[in-house]
Amino acid sequence: MKAEIIAVGTELLLGETVNTNAQYIARELANLGIDTYYQSVVGDNAERLHEAYKIAFGRADLVITTGGLGPTKDDMTKEVAAQFLNKKMVPHEESLKSIKEFFAKRGLPVNDGNRKQGYFPEGAIVLPNSVGTAPACIIEDKNIKLILLPGPPRENKPLFKTYIIPYLQKYRDKVFVSKTLNVTGIGEGQMEEMIMDIIENQTNPTVAPYSRARAITIRIAAGASTREEAERLIAPVESQIRDRLGIYVYGEGDISLEAVVAELLIEKGLTIATAESCTGGLLSARLINYPGISSVFMEGVISYSNQSKTRLLGVKPETLEKHGAVSEETAKEMAEGIRKVAGTDIGVSITGVAGPDGGTERHPVGLAYIGICINGVTKIKKINSSGSRNRIRNRLANTALDFIRREIL
Ligand code: ATP
Repeated sequence: MKAEIIAVGTELLLGETVNTNAQYIARELANLGIDTYYQSVVGDNAERLHEAYKIAFGRADLVITTGGLGPTKDDMTKEVAAQFLNKKMVPHEESLKSIKEFFAKRGLPVNDGNRKQGYFPEGAIVLPNSVGTAPACIIEDKNIKLILLPGPPRENKPLFKTYIIPYLQKYRDKVFVSKTLNVTGIGEGQMEEMIMDIIENQTNPTVAPYSRARAITIRIAAGASTREEAERLIAPVESQIRDRLGIYVYGEGDISLEAVVAELLIEKGLTIATAESCTGGLLSARLINYPGISSVFMEGVISYSNQSKTRLLGVKPETLEKHGAVSEETAKEMAEGIRKVAGTDIGVSITGVAGPDGGTERHPVGLAYIGICINGVTKIKKINSSGSRNRIRNRLANTALDFIRREIL
């Protein structure tokens, strides 16, 4: 089955609304093992919507639309679908009844627009919407399927989950299983190079890397007649990838890097404290995201000025004067200082130039040092990154988390 998603709504074309419905549906279809080859967005315009249906059914046998099922005149997804498929619009008594009840409960009159929401292309399978007034529907015609869903994500998602997933599952002759490995500490290009032959030589399972905000993920997906068989197909490919990438793989599925680090700290019974300059608490905030971190995270200091580095962390004024605040030496004294002050097993420090101004030849924007002191032994990592202030700061927090993870391991 080849699917296509059409999001309907002028607000999407104007950039006022982000098309999160398409993202959600695309992901669910991928999980079902249904290929989506195209997505499109069309405004509230009958002619262009008709054209969008024509194009979509020229290359797909399952089309899913979102939006335009409301009561107003510019909501026309259903009406244009009926016209496109040469079907009459007919009343659906149950929907009309629940629309009437919905308005009666609120003491409001039912107008023609509201009644319109109770009409569907002849033969449609109507799916009641318990969250809003626009019911969704499925239209089957010869060998094509058209699914119409309302626009608001809070209506769209539950309808998709409750009705569409079970409906589509019936049409699959295979079970699809996927596994995601999360990778950090390496660039996407470098990682791809390390596993390129595996990516290229696999058809079932398929291996696909994706770059996300905080990590790179590798999706391994297999189709088979049973779940067990699909898992059996994934296992050797997964272990081959893990062997190649080694420590760069930090976890599976939805687990975050901070959760992995927190679990490691708890498992090993290691306490930690942080001293951050340019990241302003991003590292400690990430660690504190993890519920249960209190048994190992003792304190975090944002030490931004030189005076503060000396007063709170004991960084020597000579060190700051001689090497600067962004230096290996300062990072070392910050990490050792916070460890001593907090009385923890681990002290971590971050000092860098986040920009966009303030860079010099010796200390350019993006230069940073991360220090980690574990039981008296200190290691320093020098980072050269680029981009906006935000990007640099987030990257540093991420790199620091990965540094902690590797040092514990
Ligand atoms: P309703 O009866 O609630 O109006 P509808 O099917 O007519 O439902 P639209 O009027 O097209 O839906 O959109 C309603 C709201 O839903 C939009 O203002 C927007 O906030 C949100 N929305 C619509 N389409 C999308 C989309 N593709 N992704 C995310 N949000 C969307």
